Amino acid sequence: MHESELLARVPEGLLINGEWRPAEGGRTLDVHDPATGQLVKQIADASVADGKAAMDAAAAAFPAWAATPARERAELLRHTFDLLKDRAEDFALLMTIEMGKPLAEARGEVTYGAEFVRWFSEEAAHVQGRYGANPEGTGRMIVSQHPVGPCYLITPWNFPLAMATRKIAPALAAGCTVVIKPAELTPLTTMFFAQLLVEAGLPAGVVNVVTTSTAGPVSEAIIGDPRLRKLSFTGSTPVGQRLLAQAAPGVLRTSMELGGNAPFIVFDDADLDKAVAGAMAAKFRNVGQACTAANRFIVHRSLVEEFTERVTAQVKGMKIGRGTESGVSIGPLIDDRAVAKARQLVDDAVERGAELRAGGQALEGPGTFYEPTVVSDVPEGSDILREEIFGPVLAIVPFDDEDDAVRIANDTEYGLVSYVYTENLARGQRMIERLETGMMGLNIGVVSNAAAPFGGWKFSGLGREGGAEGIHEYLQTKYTLTPNPFG
Ligand code: NAD
Repeated sequence: MHESELLARVPEGLLINGEWRPAEGGRTLDVHDPATGQLVKQIADASVADGKAAMDAAAAAFPAWAATPARERAELLRHTFDLLKDRAEDFALLMTIEMGKPLAEARGEVTYGAEFVRWFSEEAAHVQGRYGANPEGTGRMIVSQHPVGPCYLITPWNFPLAMATRKIAPALAAGCTVVIKPAELTPLTTMFFAQLLVEAGLPAGVVNVVTTSTAGPVSEAIIGDPRLRKLSFTGSTPVGQRLLAQAAPGVLRTSMELGGNAPFIVFDDADLDKAVAGAMAAKFRNVGQACTAANRFIVHRSLVEEFTERVTAQVKGMKIGRGTESGVSIGPLIDDRAVAKARQLVDDAVERGAELRAGGQALEGPGTFYEPTVVSDVPEGSDILREEIFGPVLAIVPFDDEDDAVRIANDTEYGLVSYVYTENLARGQRMIERLETGMMGLNIGVVSNAAAPFGGWKFSGLGREGGAEGIHEYLQTKYTLTPNPFG
């Protein structure tokens, strides 16, 4: 389909109580293509009053949705999954246009994002309680699960479909209604997905979408609404910390998927072919703009030169361009700030003595491109080892023994994911126990899966998305005691 034809089919309003409507005062916000800098579409820019209207709709729709049989909720999700698979190409192209990722990766995200809809369609009907005698034999204990209530979902720009489905699908499966606020840089995919839910038969008010350029005030008003029961956020750690503080007065349930600073350790007993392939995937997927992106390559000194040469050779062969062009594996970064950050981190490392092996330059516009880059011998203390890079920069640090590797890997406030390459089983098992991260790739460079509990330790977050755990983020437990019916 032609791009303009696709864009014309994406809604431009706010979805509130089952209707797409303009924002208060007709305010709009512009969405741009980061590869060209051009305006893609103008959409509604919600005010605080619009956010409140969305909250009203979610609160009003909650009792009926919570009472809808789980099988019906499951079938609606399954129907949505089928529609999403049918429209996979449209969703992939839309993500490439608004976010910049290469089309092949956008197709991968449609598969990944759709998987959450299927997974939670299956989980919806499998929520269980329990019944049993208390130890004294005097009573019967009933444990049941209930939807938490209306939820507010905030998503980032880097995975426009998957971050939305990873929250919406479990919420709906559990019987919750939602207001979702996608990132203002990439709102179109969420709007297109919400339209699919409507087409699949979603009752009015169950999912409401507010797009806004004023995320702070709109969110604060929704979070402060006493009818809200849950906040689920994916984004940066500083914003997550602020939202946790806002959620405290309402004692809201919260799920926080925050930043990462993943170590990627290559031991001297690693299979180097596998490690190089894993490194390329863990670093350059999404042009490095993933919370799971490997941030620090910690490589045993005996292989560091060979590893560096091999990744450098691959990086030099990568094609940069708009994600719709064939063969492109490096699209644009999301905006000028992201380019400035990559440049500043690389410059700081080089000034401190790191060696620039490939890349290191921002490209002339239009578009916000930064070359895929390799820096080796990065000294401890460099900003690039402490901060989340969120760009196509592969930073290498040598180490000498296992304790050294573990110390460097754990020397961060983040704890989302780690990657370890070793052919030694016992060493791999030791790493599972020693690395302070919520997830780990052992001889593999990508860990995400709808069936897995995704989430971090330390400053990387609270709660889990996906897996058997994912639906429980949207359920609350009730324990009931009744007397022994036999007297
Ligand atoms: P961000 O924190 O700037 O924005 C995330 C979302 O929060 C956006 O929708 C934004 O509009 C909104 N937001 C910003 N300020 C707000 C405020 N004051 N009140 C309410 N909402 C506000 O992050 P980003 O740049 O969009 O995304 C990148 C970050 O997300 C990285 O740190 C990355 O690691 C993290 N991330 C984490 C995961 C995970 O699962 N752990 C997944 C993807 C991205």
